[in-house]
Amino acid sequence: MASRVIPVDPFDLVIFGGTGDLATRKILPGLYRRFQAGQMPEGARIIGAARSELTDEAYRELVRAAVAEHVDADRQDGAELAGFLDRVSYTRIDARGGDGWDTLAAKMRPDTIHAFYFSVGPGLFGDLAERLNTHGIAGPDCRIVVEKPFGHDLASARALNETLARHFVEHQIYRIDHYLGKETVQNLMAVRFGNMLFEPLWNAQYVDHIQITVAETVGVGGRGDYYDKSGAMRDMVQNHMMQLLCLIAMEPPYTFDPDAVRDEKLKVIRALDPVDPDDIVRGQYRAMNGTPGYLEDAEAPDSPTESFIALKLHLSNWRWKGTPFYLRTGKRLRARTSEIAVTFKDPPHSIFGEQPGQRSNVLVIRLQPNEGIKLKVTIKEPGPGGMRLIEVPLDMSFAEALGEGVRDISDAYERLIMDVIRGNQTLFMRGDEVEAAWAWADPIIAAWEARGDRPEPYDPGGSGPEDALMLMHKDARRWREVRP
Ligand code: NAP
Repeated sequence: MASRVIPVDPFDLVIFGGTGDLATRKILPGLYRRFQAGQMPEGARIIGAARSELTDEAYRELVRAAVAEHVDADRQDGAELAGFLDRVSYTRIDARGGDGWDTLAAKMRPDTIHAFYFSVGPGLFGDLAERLNTHGIAGPDCRIVVEKPFGHDLASARALNETLARHFVEHQIYRIDHYLGKETVQNLMAVRFGNMLFEPLWNAQYVDHIQITVAETVGVGGRGDYYDKSGAMRDMVQNHMMQLLCLIAMEPPYTFDPDAVRDEKLKVIRALDPVDPDDIVRGQYRAMNGTPGYLEDAEAPDSPTESFIALKLHLSNWRWKGTPFYLRTGKRLRARTSEIAVTFKDPPHSIFGEQPGQRSNVLVIRLQPNEGIKLKVTIKEPGPGGMRLIEVPLDMSFAEALGEGVRDISDAYERLIMDVIRGNQTLFMRGDEVEAAWAWADPIIAAWEARGDRPEPYDPGGSGPEDALMLMHKDARRWREVRP
């Protein structure tokens, strides 16, 4: 099944930080794939911008190398790449100085969509916003894309929102969370609101609990400096996992309009109860068999920063009162996997008598690897011997269900960039959402800092600290296994 690709209108996309890691690993290879898919019109132009002294030709070479390294070999095509590179140029610019801005201003074409991707450190977001305006580059219809981290706490997020608001209005600001660009995350909304099957059961009366897991096998090596100031709560929970929780828990928006969706997500964050300290487990991977632990990776002896966190959350609203949400995320775990699992309650009475094993229906939404949706149902074990019940999965792996078409499914970044060009903010966080998420996270962090809590060491290659297992066991529940 081939996917349907709708080209966007002509645009000038400036990538500030166009020589950096994110641009070369994700943004530029993603744009190349959209070009290949036929989504980029003749009039599309991509302008890399950074301080390095580069000619257009040298920058194209950098982009060529990025595509060679980060696009699957069987999708690389010399002629297509040449066509893509024709659309690429470079402007040397200093976000903190005056260099390059007039050149950039002269390059921007009138009557074309203008988008500016801030793929630089967050300390430069304000500088870029200001200079785009003082140099007359930012028109009322242009868009800016702002990378994470969006603030370190509520005060800094609010300050950043205020800085951006001095130069842009909310409908111009695209705060990116690449989790929202994943195919399955959008499918979550399609499954919930495009079917009659699930929504009537989607509440505390029928759902026992919900688990959200984002497990990584990598450590913090290389990013230790940034990570140690952040930790799993700030790096993963306040943003990505909170967004997933919102999509799982929100009420049906009255329309799939950006503000209608974001209004509903905001209500979820505001309905979160304060978290009991006993419902939080923080961990830190230890050194083992010659591989460094967190403290060595982060080069921060004695650091109290968590590389793992598990939490039990409650929402105070009519739909979810009484259904716990268990979240966990961590580094150096057994497998790289992200999934949401909705466990339904058992039938109120078994007409089949005692049956071994646990048999709740579970709807599993896999974000990675192998995106797909699986529903565990109970059936009769085939053959003679009476009514023995077994569980079988109704499994819809996108790769299997869509066959060849799955190759055209865009990666999160490319989808989100195309949404910026289309002017669709549905999958981007609104300023008030980000602030609400920080307002929820800040007191939790402040409380463990005030108590001087230390994270519990855990073995790399497992499923996190012992206490995280207990968080579930004490409620007579179990985490799903962390496996690929
Ligand atoms: P990076 O590799 O350090 O790249 C930073 C870029 O900014 C470079 O192109 C650099 O080029 C440019 N730059 C630095 N100072 C500048 C200045 N004064 N004026 C103009 N350009 C300047 O960083 P990154 O990893 O790509 O991250 C970029 C942003 O994305 C950060 O906000 C980060 O938090 C976010 N992010 C990154 C990732 C990732 O996987 N890398 C994931 C999520 C979010 P010059 O030195 O030539 O100026």
